[in-house]
Amino acid sequence: MFFEPEIETASRDRIEALQLKRLRETVRRVYEHVPMYRGRLDEAGIGPDGIRSLDDLRRIPFTVKEDLRQNYPFGMFATPMRDVVRIHASSGTTGKPTVVGYTKEDLSTWSTCMARLITATGVGPDDIAQVAFGYGLFTGAFGLHYALEKVGCAVVPISAGNTEKQLMLMQDFGVTVLISTPSYAQYIAETAQKMGLVPGRDLKLRVGLFGGEACSDAMRQDIERRMGMIATQNYGLSEVVGPGISGECECQSGLHFNEDHFIPEVIDPDTGRVLPVGEKGELVLTALTKQALPILRYRTKDLTRLIPEPCACGRTHMRMEKVLGRIDDMLIIRGVNVFPSQIEEVLASVEEVGPNYEIVVTREGYLDRMQIKVELNDSSLLERFSHLEELENRIRQRIRTVLGLDVSVRLVEHQSLKRFEGKAKRVTDLRKL
Ligand SMILES: [Zn+2]
Repeated sequence: MFFEPEIETASRDRIEALQLKRLRETVRRVYEHVPMYRGRLDEAGIGPDGIRSLDDLRRIPFTVKEDLRQNYPFGMFATPMRDVVRIHASSGTTGKPTVVGYTKEDLSTWSTCMARLITATGVGPDDIAQVAFGYGLFTGAFGLHYALEKVGCAVVPISAGNTEKQLMLMQDFGVTVLISTPSYAQYIAETAQKMGLVPGRDLKLRVGLFGGEACSDAMRQDIERRMGMIATQNYGLSEVVGPGISGECECQSGLHFNEDHFIPEVIDPDTGRVLPVGEKGELVLTALTKQALPILRYRTKDLTRLIPEPCACGRTHMRMEKVLGRIDDMLIIRGVNVFPSQIEEVLASVEEVGPNYEIVVTREGYLDRMQIKVELNDSSLLERFSHLEELENRIRQRIRTVLGLDVSVRLVEHQSLKRFEGKAKRVTDLRKL
């Protein structure tokens, strides 16, 4: 299913011609209206008409999160405030948040982009969609909400939390689509099980639209198995627009960009060099049609690779691999680079433990220590394994084989670790304190 078939299946030439035209318009607009960009473009020797081909994109300096902070709150807006109709902000854990704004036209473009991605998963007017993202300054809930309405779904804007009520409405309303973070979907699945609800019989869920955090294959399989639905991922970040940048089609083999609105690049995060298509690195995004907050070459800090090969669904827009992790989340343990998602994949391969885990990193003297707490799958295992050390050793050895790292593993009781209604926080790095 397509939302805008003509553009979603457009030829490469047509997409690139559109990108070039829109990039030139955007560069001109920021040069004229955003002092920070004017200064940067002057420094790089690029005037308002300096873009001749798409290759010229590489001459434009990167934009980083700190730029938005420095221009807090509205310093990077390219339109007068009277044209701005919505303001969102990302949760700054420290200091000021990063603020983003939208004109009426921006909101319409945004919901169209997301509507394409929703339609690509097979969701349509016959569906009832429950939005279990927190409504607020975060772009996730509103981004999905208006796009679902545009597609014709009946939207249930329940927001995050109150999980038993979520399940009651799912059952009573016959909800078919769940929108949440993947870790919250896991928590909902666990609660459903506790309440004795059987997917297929009591719940009509068929598609999950997940975002807001990385979702490993293990997590996806766990959700699909326990909820009896297809788990799809979509990708976005508020600084660039919110959700709607890329998403999976029914093939579930990579996330299609909306390339007529965003240009993706992948760079070496250390040198900033643009990598050949297909190599793994940091995703950089340029928004081509935003009015209130145009953004050029934004460093996302998310690691992925581009997939240029055509997709079986018929869409011609480039795909990206699901995000492997955020550069900020990467832990360096005694010189070894470790992503929490790698630990998660190992744990998923061990039958006796569940999907909930915590990683604690400490430093003793000059030595980094990583401890992994993971829940047993069910309480009866406590009795069956008279010597839990045997299972702990097995997990430890598997992690050593996969990551080349010695860690300590502690099994904890079923359902004893914290659950999350939004993005999961699985790592505590006490070295930084
Ligand atoms: Zn596809």
